[in-house]
Amino acid sequence: MLIAKTNKELKKFLENPEINQKIGFVPTMGALHLGHLKLIEKSKKENLFTVVSIFVNPKQFNNKEDFNKYPITINEDIELLKSVNCNLLYMPSYEEIYPSGLENINIPLHDLDKVYEGEKRPGHFAGVAAVVHRLFSLVEPHKAFFGLKDFQQCIVIKNLRDQYFKNIKLKFCPTIREKCGLAMSSRNKRLSKEGLKIASNIYKAMKEVKSNFNKIEINTALSEGLKILKQYPIEIDYFSVANKHSLKPNKQWMPVRNNVLLVAVIVEDVRLIDNIVI
Ligand code: AMP
Repeated sequence: MLIAKTNKELKKFLENPEINQKIGFVPTMGALHLGHLKLIEKSKKENLFTVVSIFVNPKQFNNKEDFNKYPITINEDIELLKSVNCNLLYMPSYEEIYPSGLENINIPLHDLDKVYEGEKRPGHFAGVAAVVHRLFSLVEPHKAFFGLKDFQQCIVIKNLRDQYFKNIKLKFCPTIREKCGLAMSSRNKRLSKEGLKIASNIYKAMKEVKSNFNKIEINTALSEGLKILKQYPIEIDYFSVANKHSLKPNKQWMPVRNNVLLVAVIVEDVRLIDNIVI
């Protein structure tokens, strides 16, 4: 596996004309788990050459403590990447991503930053859009792979692609879960065994809402789901059904598979997000 730490090295590795129209790209913040590896496997299947980036992007953390506590497991990550035959790992420094003059790039977000994660984490999606804009410009992939676990992020990336990178194909891939239903996340590494058990109720609560699709009113279905979460030490940030495309909260059910239940909770001081399409 090739490793590039600078943009110069990255450019040199990507120069080969045989690969440069067949590059799959998987941006990550490291602390890799099976959810990331599935994205890489998919990219490997669909492209000649797969680039994975690891960059913990300070601009997308609205909370400094969250940034400082973000798990870093670079040696394990490199072994995992080799095990799935990743072709190139790009692990830039802050200065490579944000050289002077490019630190304050501002991408129009069309109000996607005003709801759910955007509302709760001011500046988060501006940071996500800035880093993905920079990474897309540097890697120039043919296809890029993202997880539906971060549902609203997928919509933000699509908005970015439509504005600046019409030639990049986006692939949004299903959420990979633990056996207990908990969505895999780098942040799960910060939970105790007990915390992991408690967090598995997020999926149970989401499934409860889904099971009531079109049987009872949305608000009643949400209350039934919340009843499950309220039995445990779980702080609820939001638990709401939205239109899957506009992310506007739904007052009534939309036709099947057009509703998304968006969830953000805090367990043991760790903020977890999840979602389910209904
Ligand atoms: P992160 O390292 O958290 O920034 O995630 C990098 C990419 O992996 C993003 O596109 C995430 O949506 C995706 N991802 C993270 N967790 C999962 C999961 N459990 N299943 C599928 N994709 C995931």
